[in-house]
Amino acid sequence: MIMSEKCKQHVDSCRFCWMCHHICPIGNATGQERNTARARALGISLVNREAIELAEIMDNIYECCTCGACVHDCITGWDPVMFTKEARLQAALEGVTPDYIKDLVANCLETGNAYGKTATCETLAAAIKAHADKKDTLLLLGVDAKFMACEQALKAIQVLDKAAVDFTVLDNEPASGAQLDFLIGAANETKQQMTACAKELGEYKTVVVYDPTDAKAIKQLYKEYGIDVDAEVVTYTTFVAGLLKDGKLEPKNSGESVVFQDPYQLSRDLNETEEAREIIMSYAVLGEMLLNRAETVWAGNILMAQYIPDIVKKVAERRIFNATSIGADTIVTACVGEYVSLKAVEQDKVKIISIEDLILG
Ligand code: SF4
Ligand code: SF4
Repeated sequence: MIMSEKCKQHVDSCRFCWMCHHICPIGNATGQERNTARARALGISLVNREAIELAEIMDNIYECCTCGACVHDCITGWDPVMFTKEARLQAALEGVTPDYIKDLVANCLETGNAYGKTATCETLAAAIKAHADKKDTLLLLGVDAKFMACEQALKAIQVLDKAAVDFTVLDNEPASGAQLDFLIGAANETKQQMTACAKELGEYKTVVVYDPTDAKAIKQLYKEYGIDVDAEVVTYTTFVAGLLKDGKLEPKNSGESVVFQDPYQLSRDLNETEEAREIIMSYAVLGEMLLNRAETVWAGNILMAQYIPDIVKKVAERRIFNATSIGADTIVTACVGEYVSLKAVEQDKVKIISIEDLILG
């Protein structure tokens, strides 16, 4: 495997100190050593030394959700997400990507989303049509909301309508490239998709990004890859917090006690933790999960549930257990993937709602 010197250095510099051992949401869900950042580094190291083939570790490489909890906690400052993504890119270049990932990649290239969907639900389609006129502000819904959770996408539109925002929603939204980046890393195809998206977003003055996964890609990865966006890009939570400050929404606090599930893309990658809290505290009484803000624990997503559904379900169950352990009875989410993942767990102990649910009442 051809791996950059920087990645090789990170792989080989793991000191096996175990500090990242207890914080991996997937390792904790499976209880398997192979799922820790440390074990993944060991596998890649063996490939780099030609002791085993890259194909032999690919399932393990795709069991990482790239949540960055290990990066955050690694006391030596090494970056397991970086070498995991580079291994995915290298697998694509060497043609050893697992078939179940190849199918998702093919869908991304063909339809712009890993699910291969081409149509959304009728109610959302009608709401999108009602916002077809070109305005200064674009609301980018993202593929998860648009194709896999259309009721959430609809609520995202309804919140902005409630605040009388003048905005556009595109029927044919460009893919942000976030899914391709997760599946095959910084490949040419990923960068091409991102460049095309950046060009389209540049047609607007302000772009409000609903899905934190897209927000992380556009606000952080585009910069890393040298892709400029000629628009002000804001996360949905920042934009809505601004609407509240400007008096465009008139909140009524229900007095309901809730906890917030920080999406790692906002809290760890974009360093954005307080905007969602400002919104929540206007509508409810906010308590905190024991692991919150940059210490948050990923609660699952839709993309990985396509190929390891049982593990993603266990991840969500564990996060719900975290909430019930501190006596919480309502979790508020700000990421459609986590909302869907937590909602999919059959349980009656904790209510799962989104920030939009809170606002719309
Ligand atoms: S990025 Fe997240 S899922 Fe991947 S090894 Fe690190 S903690 Fe585990
Ligand atoms: S915290 Fe860092 S150095 Fe320690 S085992 Fe994990 S990856 Fe290796």
